[in-house]
Amino acid sequence: MTEKLYYQDAYGQDFQACIIKSGSDEHGDYVLLDRTLFYPTGGGQPCDLGKIAGVEVVGVELVDGEIRHYLGGKWKQQPDVPVNARIDWERRFDFMQQHAGQHILSAAFAELMGAKTVGFHLGREHVTIDLAVPDLTWEDVERVERLTDQIVFENRQITARFVEPAELASLPLRKQPTVDENIRIVTIADFDYSPCGGIHPARTGEVGPILVLDWERYKGQVRVRFVCGQRTRKAVSQQRSILRQAGAELKTSQHDLTAQITRLLSERTELGEALKAAREQLMRAEAEGLLSRAEALRAIKLVTASWEHRPLPELQRLAKHLIEQEPSAVCLLFTAGANIQMVFARGQEVQADANQLLKTTLALIGGKGGGNTSIAQGGGPDTLGVEELVGYAANLVRELP
Ligand SMILES: [Zn+2]
Repeated sequence: MTEKLYYQDAYGQDFQACIIKSGSDEHGDYVLLDRTLFYPTGGGQPCDLGKIAGVEVVGVELVDGEIRHYLGGKWKQQPDVPVNARIDWERRFDFMQQHAGQHILSAAFAELMGAKTVGFHLGREHVTIDLAVPDLTWEDVERVERLTDQIVFENRQITARFVEPAELASLPLRKQPTVDENIRIVTIADFDYSPCGGIHPARTGEVGPILVLDWERYKGQVRVRFVCGQRTRKAVSQQRSILRQAGAELKTSQHDLTAQITRLLSERTELGEALKAAREQLMRAEAEGLLSRAEALRAIKLVTASWEHRPLPELQRLAKHLIEQEPSAVCLLFTAGANIQMVFARGQEVQADANQLLKTTLALIGGKGGGNTSIAQGGGPDTLGVEELVGYAANLVRELP
């Protein structure tokens, strides 16, 4: 059995130990030590990394009661001769801060909102807890953060000890243990009692500021994303840089940023409306131009026109302008691109069926489309050339009874 030095000294960084066994499993080659500071993955806390006898430790897992140190290179085993080992302290201390921060934040949500923590994930960038509440507000979060600040600033003691099952009933636990033996209770003085196998700093002050980044509703619960310690400074620094960039782009101070965004958005709405009106005006003028060149049949004014790569919705709007402005118009509008698209329409005074004209024309190129008797649209492969199709459709109109 390996002596768990990490439970004796949360701040130990290097140690000497003998390799008592080596082997390999699906994770790779591993060694067992007679004593170790390497914390194995567990209780939501990622494992320690570091070096054993100068060889990189790439993972540490608890398998069948053995603490297996997986090594990233070859090592020379010398039984009974102690080797030097060192954990990656920056990584470990960061996890200690995040983990203890999670205890404080979960306890604060429980105390102020009765919100129970039902899930926890400690990642490399941020930490999440899942709360059994349907939703949160920023006011809730700020209230909770004021309490976590207080607990951190009071620099309360954090202790951990193994307790007998019989003693559990007398402790005001925030949650029940998930194991029946070797139950370890982590206590934040006069604030929180939780079963936990992880490693924590000795005092809450070392956790540093706890900052909620955001949250999302997730399966009827709320997933809160937060950071502690050094990560908080990094997160604030990132947000500050975003604000600085946004301020520079919008040519305003950070203080006036939201007012400037509101101004720009309302300007954009006005411009959008002006643009829409100008486009409509332009289209009315275009329709007038087309009508002035229309072919006069007995009771019909025939408008034919074709473009390249003109969007179909634009042709539809133009067709509507044409038949509104001239109730005796029949218009046949085409646009050629990868294939040919067309809009046919007729004014109120015309008996002809726009849909029928379209279907007859589309049949020539094996195209598809449809609409109603007054307006129809469709398209098909450009097998005949647009001129030929325009001529064919125009003749259909000229031959109308
Ligand atoms: Zn813990």
